[in-house]
Amino acid sequence: MIVSEAFAGKRYAVLGLARSGLASVETLLASGAQVMAWDSREEPRLALEGRVELADPVSADLAGYDGVVVSPGVPLNRHPIADAAAEAGVPVIGDIELFALARASLPAHRVIGITGTNGKSTTASLVHHLLKSAAIPVRLGGNIGIPILSQDPLSPGGVYVLELSSYQIDLTRSLDCDVAVLLNITPDHLDRYDGFEGYVASKARLFDMQAKGHVAVFGVGDAETAAIAGRQAARLGSDMVAQVDGADIAGLQKNWPSLQGPHNLQNAAVAVTIVEALGLGPAQWQAALPTFRGLPHRMERVADLGGVLFINDSKATNAASAAPALAAFPPDPEPRIHWILGGLPKEDSLDECAPYFGYVAAAYTIGDAGPRFAEVLAPHTDVTRSEMLAEAIRQAMAAAKPGDVVMLSPACASFDQFRDFEARGDAFRQIVEALTEQRQAAPGDAD
Ligand code: ADP
Repeated sequence: MIVSEAFAGKRYAVLGLARSGLASVETLLASGAQVMAWDSREEPRLALEGRVELADPVSADLAGYDGVVVSPGVPLNRHPIADAAAEAGVPVIGDIELFALARASLPAHRVIGITGTNGKSTTASLVHHLLKSAAIPVRLGGNIGIPILSQDPLSPGGVYVLELSSYQIDLTRSLDCDVAVLLNITPDHLDRYDGFEGYVASKARLFDMQAKGHVAVFGVGDAETAAIAGRQAARLGSDMVAQVDGADIAGLQKNWPSLQGPHNLQNAAVAVTIVEALGLGPAQWQAALPTFRGLPHRMERVADLGGVLFINDSKATNAASAAPALAAFPPDPEPRIHWILGGLPKEDSLDECAPYFGYVAAAYTIGDAGPRFAEVLAPHTDVTRSEMLAEAIRQAMAAAKPGDVVMLSPACASFDQFRDFEARGDAFRQIVEALTEQRQAAPGDAD
């Protein structure tokens, strides 16, 4: 766990006791701070009984507190904690800001902060893999689901790789990243911001926090990212700003089985730029890229059955992230994707996917968005209104020919039918396995 004298004798309130909130409480207590903590659920409150003051910072007296640490899941634009803290003159921060404040107590190190609408987890874990392969001490944390504060500090020369959502950036005031990274910006999470501009401004703040002499890396592809890159070049100097499209390393991509598709070329190119900024040479990253295993639920190959590939891309919760997954499997020469999509829609259209409709051999719609997506797709491809995931997989499996791809890339959130995107992806894998066993058991039905 990270501990720092920066918090000794200070007073903090922590609202939201899931993973990152609990890690914040533990770091603060171990660092000698006084802590008020609260969660609307009773169970995590009981677990802290006797160690913290249990009170809701929304209604408690916050005078004299050094900060209110809130979970990134709390919608600051609507939640009363924002007003309560403002009235008491107390900053609202997150666990990443605590990490930023603790940095002065850590051995010499560098911090990489990675944000973007899509590709954060892949890029952050790839950077982690490349640095680890080069024997550099490294920790991965943040939005990826591992609180950075709960991890042990690194020895001198180490690198902390942080995956940062815009909510986490909103709760951060002083994180000066040695390398700050923005992959892309497309409309998402608009319920939490004053329109698209608010969301873009949130991403831009990661760069506003950077000191001169530090490096900024940007993906090439959308106007908002390009505008932030331009501003940052004016501020830090153009030699400290890289805009990366991956064209120079595209020829190597065939060697990276878990980094296929144009989006992964961009993720890889950005990761390479980051590790080169940290001093790695081409021989080091070239040796490590082929051994990257990828992440579960992101274009994860779950089975290859008689030449039909089954891909779990459950993490694609909007059309912008489903589009590159489709792009990864062009016709050969016939369209070959059996596309399972739908769920709880974030938007009504599939516009970003439209350039790849010609790659789709057949579509199988599920969940709340099913009827709407079926209408959108019907003029372009065969559509089956499957409604349920298991039915969709069964139908796709029956229709797919060797060389085809059965892919769950839903372009929707999962909450209508599943707990979260992980549960949806796990269900996909389990159903594929179960149906395979059934098929293999059925006499006369074997390939
Ligand atoms: P994040 O952590 O930002 O949600 P992930 O790396 O988990 O991103 O990928 C989420 C989804 O976005 C995956 O379905 C993937 O196909 C898609 N994706 C990954 N990288 C990119 C990119 N650079 N541009 C667009 N889409 C991407």
